[in-house]
Amino acid sequence: MPIAENLHYFNQQLQGTGCRIVAVSKTHTAATIKEAYDAGQRIFGENKVQELEEKYHQLPHDIEWHLIGHLQTNKVKYIANFVDTIQSVDSLKLLQEINKRAEQRNRTTPINCMLQISIADEETKYGMNYEEAVALLQSDEYRQMHYIRITGVMGIATNTDDETKLRQEFRYLKECFTKIKDTFFFANEDFKEISMGMTSDWKLAIEEGSTMIRVGSGIFGARDYSKK
Ligand SMILES: *Cc1c(COP(=O)(O)O)cnc(C)c1O
Repeated sequence: MPIAENLHYFNQQLQGTGCRIVAVSKTHTAATIKEAYDAGQRIFGENKVQELEEKYHQLPHDIEWHLIGHLQTNKVKYIANFVDTIQSVDSLKLLQEINKRAEQRNRTTPINCMLQISIADEETKYGMNYEEAVALLQSDEYRQMHYIRITGVMGIATNTDDETKLRQEFRYLKECFTKIKDTFFFANEDFKEISMGMTSDWKLAIEEGSTMIRVGSGIFGARDYSKK
């Protein structure tokens, strides 16, 4: 796959939009990821803890690793010392564990966290609803966390070609972002990300206000799950 060309294309498309790209490298080898790294890409996303951990050890340490898949609390400890951002925070309990592990690791920077909001109608997709996210932010437990930083919201839209539906879902996530920003992070510049849009729908997502698209197959080609 012409990875460098694909990245070049995306970077051109993103120019002037204020939107950044996470290269979703799940199922791809460290050698393949290194190609993207050599082409200048520094933000990579993985959805499984073990895979992320292995790749962290194989690749340069100035990579900004984002976890974008569901995270079990008992696995936070494996990534707490190096992960830049956990995009898939879907409960207060998970956030507490992330905070605890970040503290133990004595990191020089907090772990960035995004609140995953469920915007699709598929029940299999993880995420909180808006009310649950608000309850988390209002909790005393959250106020006592000093080793995490909430940087925005993340959502996975329905897997559909229906443009109207996709736009509705993206718009809803943007609305959630704005309300949360105004209520909890008004003067806080850390809270700025709306992570939405993938290979099939990133253009729409940007039109609807995405600040971070997560692109896998559009950069690396189709995934082959049979090799895993
Ligand atoms: C796999 C994945 C992506 C990227 O999907 P593509 O269709 O290959 O761009 C984005 N976000 C999440 C949460 C994913 O799991």
